[in-house]
Amino acid sequence: MNKGLEITRGKTKALFESPEQPDVAVMKSMDSITAGDGARRNVIEGKGRLAAQTTARVFRLLNLCGFPTHYISGGEDDDENEILVRRCQMIPLEVVVRGVAAGSYVKRKAIARGAMLLPRVLEFFIKDDANHDPQIEPDDIVARGVASPGEIAAMGEIARMVFEVLAHAWRRRDVLLIDLKIEFGRLLSGEGKGSLVIADVVDNDAWRIWPQGREEMMLDKQMYRNLQNVTPEALDQVRTNYEKVAELVGSFPQMRTGMVALFAEDQRNLDAAGDVMRHIQAYGLPLGRHVASSAITPQYIVQLAQQLDASFARLVYVSYGPSGLAAMLNGATTNLVVDATSQSPDVAAQSVAKAFALDDTVLFGRVMLTQANMRSALLQLDAQLNQPHQPPPGVAIA
Ligand code: 5GP
Repeated sequence: MNKGLEITRGKTKALFESPEQPDVAVMKSMDSITAGDGARRNVIEGKGRLAAQTTARVFRLLNLCGFPTHYISGGEDDDENEILVRRCQMIPLEVVVRGVAAGSYVKRKAIARGAMLLPRVLEFFIKDDANHDPQIEPDDIVARGVASPGEIAAMGEIARMVFEVLAHAWRRRDVLLIDLKIEFGRLLSGEGKGSLVIADVVDNDAWRIWPQGREEMMLDKQMYRNLQNVTPEALDQVRTNYEKVAELVGSFPQMRTGMVALFAEDQRNLDAAGDVMRHIQAYGLPLGRHVASSAITPQYIVQLAQQLDASFARLVYVSYGPSGLAAMLNGATTNLVVDATSQSPDVAAQSVAKAFALDDTVLFGRVMLTQANMRSALLQLDAQLNQPHQPPPGVAIA
């Protein structure tokens, strides 16, 4: 990639300006691996390549789900380990989510390593290598002017959702996500200037992952941190693990093709189903429409369902009309039938998306974000209703 001046350099990556694109930067991963805030340091040839690949694939998944991130493109195919990102002002916090007790958590708390943590634990650490990145409470983050209360709440909520999305992806590969660290920035310019985005990297250094839930099979950087002696053979094993992880993460952003078949009883029901169809399409799901009447063309319903069942591996039916239509479809197919007739369109669409989300992490993330947006819309509405003095419309608050 075309690079300009170096902006900053960390232990494992460097950031460069992108010529003629002031809103954009080039993030280059290097072959170094460090532990103990830089006290242990080695070079593993090819590690930068694997780190860029892993980060690019994780961020592409997060973008597909609809999370705000700094990732634009690159990292997966080019051989320079470079990723194009939107420029941000980094917030000097490590936001950690834990689903299973491990690492510094078991040193600080009276809890057995490997214990399930529900609800997930959210912690903030302030970036300060000299003081070993100490934990910091939200009040202190605000008092030190590092982030606002609103930003802290948003970072917490986003980090928890990112953890669930990655845990979903790993679980489907029989790997348990233990904990995760992410970082945030504020967009420096362009559309959404000032808003929060997930930034930095999310690679095999930033989480703990235990295949089959077994710590001794760990594939992440903890293996390097634990080494008694850093021998060339041990570093080879670390590289092999990083290769395995980059490959597994390769299929995280792959959407599994599915099909939604909407059956409306007649023209009136087809028109009434407009809203539910729009909500289904907002999840990115392909939708086929059919008019088939349980009263007038019952055999056609059975015939069509047989045809569709034989054509699509992942199929969900949506029925819109009298209850007899849903009942008939249910009898005709082994696939799920959602009767959207008497449900609100967003809820019906969500039921459809949830069926696909069982084995599609992109859809799982989209469902999760849609639910979060629904919650925050309702909370905002409630807050507006209960404001003590509502100014008349158009009057600015001084
Ligand atoms: P712990 O606080 O238990 O050491 O770490 C919690 C999680 O955050 C682990 O997944 C760990 O890999 C990650 N983590 C903590 N500190 C750092 C750091 O400085 N860099 C990176 N990449 N990850 C970190």
